[in-house]
Amino acid sequence: MRMLAAVMYQQGLPTPFAESQPFKIEEVDLEGPVEGEVLVQVMAAGLCHSDLSQVAGLRKRACPVVGGHEGAGIVREVGRGVSRLKVGDHVVMSGAPGCGQCGYCGDDRPNLCETVGVSRAAGTLGTGNRKLSRNGQPINHYSGISSFAEYAVLTPDTLIKVDNDIPLSVAALYGCGVVTGAGAAFNTARVRPGQTVAVIGLGGVGLSAVMAAKIAGASEIIGIDLLDDKFPLALELGCTRTINARNPDVLQFVLDHTRGGVDYVFEVTGNKNAMATAFAITRKGGDVICIGLGAAGATLEYPHTNLVGMQKGLRGTFMGGGNAVGDIQRYVRFYKEGRMPVDKLVSGSMSFDQLNANLDALDRGSVLRQVLLPHG
Ligand SMILES: [Zn+2]
Ligand SMILES: [Zn+2]
Repeated sequence: MRMLAAVMYQQGLPTPFAESQPFKIEEVDLEGPVEGEVLVQVMAAGLCHSDLSQVAGLRKRACPVVGGHEGAGIVREVGRGVSRLKVGDHVVMSGAPGCGQCGYCGDDRPNLCETVGVSRAAGTLGTGNRKLSRNGQPINHYSGISSFAEYAVLTPDTLIKVDNDIPLSVAALYGCGVVTGAGAAFNTARVRPGQTVAVIGLGGVGLSAVMAAKIAGASEIIGIDLLDDKFPLALELGCTRTINARNPDVLQFVLDHTRGGVDYVFEVTGNKNAMATAFAITRKGGDVICIGLGAAGATLEYPHTNLVGMQKGLRGTFMGGGNAVGDIQRYVRFYKEGRMPVDKLVSGSMSFDQLNANLDALDRGSVLRQVLLPHG
C-alpha cells in the first residue's frame, strides 16, 4: 500500500529542525505482512528524547529510515503463523520485548534480546525483511517499529495487546517512555516502601520513574531538572520536593531531607554533570540507576574511592530492565486504577507537518510527550 510516513535520510542536521527538516513527510510504499508479520494502523505515536538524539546523530542509524519507536494502533491484517493477535486488536508497539528464543530471552531478560539487537542495527524487522520503500529504494525500519507512519508492518513480539478502553494516544507512551522509566524503578532498583529516591531529568521517562517510585512506596522522591516549569507536574505525579539542577546547594538539599543521601538516583539525561550530581547525592550503599544513553562512545567519570569505600553502585537499565509484555499490561492496569496517570505525560497532539517543529520544542524542554496522530 501507499501511505504517508516521516522519513529521515540523514542524521546530524542543524537546529532549528523546523528549518532543516530532518523528517521528510512523504508517500512511501509498505508491503503487506507475510508469515510472522502483522499490519497495524498506527493511531498514535510518541515523540521521545531518543528521536531527538537520533536526529542529532548522537548514535548512528541505518538511513533512510521511517522514524518512531513507540506507538499504539489497531491490528488490520495478520500474516500466516500469527495466532496471538487478531484483526481489530488494540496494541502497544514496543521494541522492548525480545524474540523469546535466544539465550537472553531464555534467561527472562528479553530487553537484552540478541536477535532484536541484530535486526534493530540492520534496520530490518525481526523476520529480516524490509517492508518499506520509496520509488523502489528500500527504507529501513526504526527499532522494528517505525511508528511515524499511517501504517506499520511489525513482528508480533513487538506488539502487546491492550484492552480497547485505554485511549490509544495514552497507550502510545507505554512502548518506550513508560516501560523504561517505570521499569527502572520496579525492576532494576526494586524500590521498597520507605526508601528514598531522586530523579534527574523530569521528562516522560523520568516522570514514569516518579510514578512507579510512588506506587512502590518511596517515602521521599526528589525531582531535579534544569527547568522549573517541569516541577508542578512532577509534584502532582509523586515528587515530594523539587530543586533546580543549577542550584549550587543540591547536595545539601538532598542531605537535609534524607539520611545521608537517597537510596536510588534515577539519572535520565546521560549528561556528565548530571551523573556527577547523581553519584554525589546517593547515600552509602545506594545505587545510581543510569537510564539516559547520551552520545555513542561518551565516557563519564565517577570518584572511584567512593564507589568502593561507600559501596555505591552504578547500574545501567535498558527499556525497563524487565519483561515488557507483562510490565506494560500491569502498567495499563495501574493507569485504569488511577495510580499511574500516564495521560498527564501527554502535552499535546500533532499532525505530520508539525513533527519537525516539535523536535525543537522537545529540545527546548518546553513539552513532555507530543503524540503524532497519523490519521488526524
Ligand atoms: Zn524512546
Ligand atoms: Zn531474544
